[in-house]
Formats: sequence, structure tokens, C-alpha cells
Amino acid sequence: MNEEIKIMIELQHYWDNVMLCESEISRFNKSIQIWNKNREDLKNELQKKEALIKSQKLKSKEAESTLKEIEEKIKKLQQKKDSLKSEREIEAYQKELEKILADKDNCENFVLELMDRIDSLEDEISQLKIEWDETDKQVSNDIELIKSKIILEEKKLAESKESFYALVEKLPPQSKTRFLKLIGSKDGKAIAKLNGEICGHCNFQIPSSLAAEAAKGEKIVSCTNCGRFIY
Ligand SMILES: [Zn+2]
Repeated sequence: MNEEIKIMIELQHYWDNVMLCESEISRFNKSIQIWNKNREDLKNELQKKEALIKSQKLKSKEAESTLKEIEEKIKKLQQKKDSLKSEREIEAYQKELEKILADKDNCENFVLELMDRIDSLEDEISQLKIEWDETDKQVSNDIELIKSKIILEEKKLAESKESFYALVEKLPPQSKTRFLKLIGSKDGKAIAKLNGEICGHCNFQIPSSLAAEAAKGEKIVSCTNCGRFIY
């Protein structure tokens, strides 16, 4: 086989490793992003619930002081009771008392409702805190692990690139320029094996004479469709 073709095959092998390492690194980085997002989401949920409980407690305080005011009013109203004289006055008094007692009832119900809400929020928050602690620990561990994998991949990537760029210098200038241009394409392929007369890269059937020449391995031949070197 032509020495140049041998070099190209080896170069393609190094470049395949480069591409593989790059895709692994990007996959690892995506995993880190997803882990971080999960952790962030959980933290936001916790903060939202904490803000909610704060506002509910404030409301509860307000409702309790309203209740106290109502109770004061009732007391004052009841003190007036003995001084009532006419039936009209008594009727008005009773109407006012009924109204204020209904207000008291509503307010008490509201306070109870708030207490229930606060109780269940406190439960949810303590559950979330447990979940947060576990998630945070797990995410930190996993991210550390992924980072160590990234370091390994980066090392392999650097080695493959180094081997590639050292070897590419052995190609004659014209082939080198073309090879580098092809390897820089999206799929990172510069050379393909022929399967009979079919290009292993684009699956195009090349002319028989060209396939025969490629099989001899004396000349440098390219696919007439995708332009990759073929052997
Ligand atoms: Zn092709």
C-alpha cells in the first residue's frame, strides 16, 4: 500500500479519537449542566415555599390582631347592654352583636385555615430540606466524578491531536492541505475504505476504473462524489 495512504489511515484514526473525546467532553458537560439545574430547581422550590410560609405567618398575625380588636368591640358592646332602654335600642344592639359575632366567626375560621396551611407548608419544607441535603451531596459527588472523567478525556484529546499534527507533517504539502480541509468538515472524515466500488463514506458507486486504481494502492484516489480519499 502507498505510504501516503497508510499515513492518512493512521491520521484518520487519531482524528476519530479526537472527535470521540470531544463528543464525550460535551456529553459530560451537559450532564453537569443538568445536575446543576436539578439542584437549582430544588433550591428555588424551597425558597418559594419559605417565602410563602413567611407571608402566611404575617397574615396569621394580622388576623389574630383583628380577632383581638373584634373581641374588644364585643366586650364594649356587651357593657352597653344594661343601659339599653327602648325596644328599638335593644333590637339595634342585637343586630350589631349578631354582625360582630359573625365577623368573629369568620376571622377565627380564617386563623384556623392559616394555621393549617402553615403546618402543611412546614411539613413540605422539612421534606424538601431533607431532599435538598441528599441531592446536594449526590450532585456534588457526581459532578466531581464527571470532572475527573473530563480531565481524562482532555488528556486523551491532547495526545491524539499531538499525534495527528505531528504525523500530518509527513504528508506532501498538497495532500496535507486537502487532508486538513476534509478532516475539518463536520463529520471529521478525510479518508474512506472502499467496499467493492462503493465509497465507505458516502455510499456512492465510483467508476470501476477508479476502484481498480484504488485497489492497487499505488496512486492517491478520491471519491468522485464526496471527495474523500479512498483506499
Ligand atoms: Zn464518497
